[in-house]
Formats: sequence, C-alpha cells, structure tokens
Amino acid sequence: MRVLVVGGGGREHALCWKLAQSPLLTRLWCAPGNPGIAQVAATVDIAPEDINRLVDFAVAQRVDLTVVGPEVPLTLGLADALAARGLAVFGPTRAAAELEGSKVFAKRFLERHGIPSAPFAVVADAAAAREAMGRFGWPVVLKADGLAAGKGVLIAQDEAEYEDAVRALFEERRFGASADQVVIEGFLHGEEVSFMALSDGERLLPLATSKDYKRIGDGDTGPNTGGMGCHSPSGLVTAGAAERIAETILRPVIAGLAAEGRPFTGILYAGLMLTEDGPRVLEFNARFGDPEAQVLLLRLEDDLLPVLAAGAAGRFEVPELRFRSEAAACVVLASPGYPGKPRQGEPIRGLGRAGSPPGVEIFHAGTALVDAESDTELVSAGGRVLSVCALGADLAAALERAYAAVTTIDWPGKVFRRDIGARVLARPWKGGT
Ligand code: AMP
Repeated sequence: MRVLVVGGGGREHALCWKLAQSPLLTRLWCAPGNPGIAQVAATVDIAPEDINRLVDFAVAQRVDLTVVGPEVPLTLGLADALAARGLAVFGPTRAAAELEGSKVFAKRFLERHGIPSAPFAVVADAAAAREAMGRFGWPVVLKADGLAAGKGVLIAQDEAEYEDAVRALFEERRFGASADQVVIEGFLHGEEVSFMALSDGERLLPLATSKDYKRIGDGDTGPNTGGMGCHSPSGLVTAGAAERIAETILRPVIAGLAAEGRPFTGILYAGLMLTEDGPRVLEFNARFGDPEAQVLLLRLEDDLLPVLAAGAAGRFEVPELRFRSEAAACVVLASPGYPGKPRQGEPIRGLGRAGSPPGVEIFHAGTALVDAESDTELVSAGGRVLSVCALGADLAAALERAYAAVTTIDWPGKVFRRDIGARVLARPWKGGT
C-alpha cells in the first residue's frame, strides 16, 4: 500500500513510525513531515492546509490511503476533496469534523442526543454574554465557537474575570472570527481524562485509556498548552468504567452523527470530566490527541495499516484492538517561552544516545536541520519540540525511563514538566486498559 500521512508534529511522527512497521506498506510519504519523520518516510513539502496540492499529490502518486493528523485540514474539507477524486482517506469529512470545528454545533448535538455534558448557553454578542452572567454559577467557562489552537477557552472565577473574558472575546476580538459565537457553560469538577476510539462511520474500536497534562507548569499551573505529557493507561478509570464511557458517550455520538447524515470516519476523541454524577463531555476532537497518539501507538500491538484501510473503506474487519499490557509515558520538551512566543534555533544533541535504550522512542515535533560547519545540525523549531516516550512494565517504570532519556538529551533550554503521572501514581490505581 502507498500511504500519505498529513501533518508534521509528534503525532504524525508516531503515526509514520507505526505505519512503517507494516508488512503491507510499500511507500510512505508525509506532508510536510519533520527531520524525525524523514527517517521513516519521504517528506513532501506541502502544508497541511494546502488542500488542492495535497489532493493533486495523492492522485499523481496513486496513494492508496491518506491518514490526516491535524484538525485544520479536516475542517477545511481535505477528506471530502480526496473522496471526490475517488481516494481512500482515514479522517472525517468537513461535516463530521464540525464536532471539533464548532463548539456550538458540538453542544447542541450533545443536547439533541441526550449525551451528558455541562449546562450551557450560546451568545453572539457582548450584551447577550453580560446578560448570561451568573446563570451557571461560579466558576464559569467561556469558549470561542471555532478553532483557536486550544486557546479559546476562558475560565472566569468571578464577575470581574467574566467581564474581562467578555471584553477579550467580543470587544478586543482576541480570538478573531472563532469567537463570533461563544458557548458559556457550567464548570465541571472532577478528574479529566481523554478517551479515544477509531470509527468506520458505524462501528467503534476503542483505544486504551490515556491522560494528558495540558498546563505548562508542574502541579497543573500556568497557561494551557497543546499538551506537555501524557501516559497510558490513565490509571483513573476501571475497565468497566471505560466500557460504560464507550457505550454511553462514544457510541451514541457515532450513531447520532450517522443519523444526522454526517457519518464519522476517523479518530473520535472525547475530553471528559469524571464528575460525581458520572462522566460528562468537555470537548471533542476529530483526530488523535498529541501527545496521546505517541503513547497509544507505542502500546498498540496490532498492525495499524489494515485497520485504518478497513476504516476508510467503511468496515472494520476486527472486533477490537489489542494493546500491550505495559504502560507508556511521554514527556514533552518545549522551547523556552512556550506557550507564548518560543525561543527557537537552539542546537539539540544526544538524541541517538537518549533514544537507544529498549522501549524508548523519541518523536520529533518542532525540529529543523540547519547547515553547520561540516554537517547539518538539529535545532529547535517550534513551541513543542520533542516527545520523549517510553514503555515500561508499569506506569512508574515507563515514567522513569522517559525521564532518564530526557536528562541525557543535550539541550540546555529544554522546558518540561517534572510531574507527569505523579498525581496518578499517588492515588489508588483503578486498573483499566
Ligand atoms: P476544551 O478545549 O473545551 O477541552 O477546554 C480546554 C480545557 O478547559 C479543558 O481541558 C478543561 O481543563 C477546561 N474546561 C473546559 N470546559 C470545562 C468545564 N465545563 N468545566 C471545567 N473545566 C473545563
């Protein structure tokens, strides 16, 4: 099979690393890829948003399957454009990806189908937002409708912070057109977990559980980021609870989308709050989480390629996916300044040594190769730069290996959290897969 992966971050490196192990694979391209991906795939200099050029490339190269990593090309209709040319794609259509692309759509969809979430209102101007103040108690959450790279969610503790948020969203227009509409919703208390499954439009193949760490600072402090680390299993949900989440949330979502004429083929990601009244949906993504993909693909035993190909064809051929019993952990190394303006172009050395112990994999996110005196040199080239991942007999062992690899990477500027998994290890382990 000739396969094209779209994207160029740690998630896409992990996808390419896993697909490259398939005996069914004959050619693997990645657009645009990165220096790490270039070790396992041919990189193609086309941006993920350049739908026309991606489709032309897939047609010209007779690509058998396209796998889309990031959300933006999905919401721009890449899957639709490929399908219109008769090409197979694993990733939702633009209509199905609205689940991620529009929080207003997602909230109303959840309400229509009776799927548990936080109470909410939709407002389209500052006056309506001010009128809704206090309706959901405190704290309260304000969310820009459209994609805002994970930054369009504001939490207000009191009236003053609420007023600041309303001004930022509607008057300063800090999130642009993505905040033409805003969801205001009640704050949910509990532990946050992510839950993902592959869908072929009708059937569901749940992935193992995982937990990600979104804040930049230890102890969940500081601003939200794209994700600073994660592990699988989450250790927070029993196998039974995971099954209930699949039955009461993920399956109804897939069935609801199909019933509304927008069947979802791809990876459905639900961000959930485990509240005292049971799990509730915080958000949906229409693609793999990053860095959750890295740990889940490390643990996946099955060959990924035939699973994605069957999904793209509308019919999974296996009843479930198999995961290693070992745990996997990931520590993200970011540039100084992230999630604000990252300082870039710093040399990174020692990756070969750091990645050599068995079970350790280092996936590239924001790296670049630049010409140095006699050779090329690897430098930082983004906010999140590397995903340092490891398998281990249990979560503690996986974390220990990942952190040992982090210390051997020679990059003085690296910023990372030192407490990935710490809180989960400190409380009773729920088991689960
Ligand atoms: P979202 O992009 O909607 O997942 O929001 C980003 C983050 O904000 C989530 O990962 C949560 O940590 C937090 N958040 C969002 N909605 C709520 C809510 N209703 N209650 C509590 N925290 C929330």
